[in-house]
Amino acid sequence: MTTNGPRTFFPILVRQGGYPRKEDGSYYGYPRYRDHIAADCLHRCVYCDATDEEVDAMQIDHFRPESFPEFEALINVPQNLHYACSRCNRWKWDHWPARGTPHTHNGTDGFVDPFEVDRSAYFAIGPDGQIEALQQPAAYIIGLLHLKREFLRKLREKRTLLVELGARRAALKAELQADVDAGRRSDPKIILEFIERWERIDALLK
Ligand SMILES: [Zn+2]
Repeated sequence: MTTNGPRTFFPILVRQGGYPRKEDGSYYGYPRYRDHIAADCLHRCVYCDATDEEVDAMQIDHFRPESFPEFEALINVPQNLHYACSRCNRWKWDHWPARGTPHTHNGTDGFVDPFEVDRSAYFAIGPDGQIEALQQPAAYIIGLLHLKREFLRKLREKRTLLVELGARRAALKAELQADVDAGRRSDPKIILEFIERWERIDALLK
């Protein structure tokens, strides 16, 4: 089944801008931008794609690590700030294999900036929720950040199933409603009531 809704995994990210600045034009301390960065990243970890409803403890990641002197000036610059879950942020730490170059990876190892590339060209998610590398440096990222771990695989499988079930539910509901309206079915009420309760619990889970 295909849906025309938003992508289930690794959506395109666009900087929303509008980051407030001090009177002298400089940026505030980076924690001030947390809400902006969360919105820019669609409330998902830019590495494992878990949402802040799926995992706790989202953090602000300094894409180019703040611990390197050459990146010190970027510490509060919103364009270098990403939303990341605590696990990905910890495992990424200050790894930066492209050090000494202007690039984000060295051809095999390193990272991709989700605001510059379409991550669906780098990562594929199978129906079982497992993540696969499509091109470098995806294998490096998957390995370093343990993106194949069972917790994340299940999270992705669950998300895939919920999206698919939601689409099938909407189709079934429309079909039943059409039957009710046309008087074609004698007792679809019980099915509609079932669907409505399912919709309610779904809304509560969001
Ligand atoms: Zn993550």
